[in-house]
Amino acid sequence: MDPTEEALNDPAIRAYLHRIAGDEGLNLLERFPKEGEHSDEDLAATTGINLNSVRHTLYTLYEKRLAEYHRIKNNETGWLTYLWQLRIDHIYDAIREDMSMVLEKLSRREKYEEENDFYICKDCQILFTFPLAMNVDFTCPECKKPLGHFDNEMLLRSLKFRIEAIKKSLGHA
Ligand SMILES: [Zn+2]
Repeated sequence: MDPTEEALNDPAIRAYLHRIAGDEGLNLLERFPKEGEHSDEDLAATTGINLNSVRHTLYTLYEKRLAEYHRIKNNETGWLTYLWQLRIDHIYDAIREDMSMVLEKLSRREKYEEENDFYICKDCQILFTFPLAMNVDFTCPECKKPLGHFDNEMLLRSLKFRIEAIKKSLGHA
């Protein structure tokens, strides 16, 4: 099977492509000619998708290395044409990279949650770290009620759970 078609048939990969490229992106991927390289204008003409949307999708895919181009110059006019082809075979690398970035973000958040002590005004739902709570004398600046300690254990547990799950699927665990 064609790698793009195969990717689009996998619900998880399809969801990922939809998240990065949207409805119009998926639309282009589904209609992208199976063979050869194509200019953005040709793609717009053959798929019926408007040119701006085609370009937007191509750049989005390019950033994830899921599309590549080569450039040809018309020697008479000096005009450049970009010919595109899909590289959906890079999809697993793209997903791994994104997951690594999410993992980094979650790990930073985990560290922040572990290193800080939190206080809350339950009425106003305002959260303070220890130094900020100390600055306001453990009194809510909005309603003047005393702040209570905020237990972030559940949040930390769910962060750890998500971190472990990502590490496992990245093969780090
Ligand atoms: Zn308050």
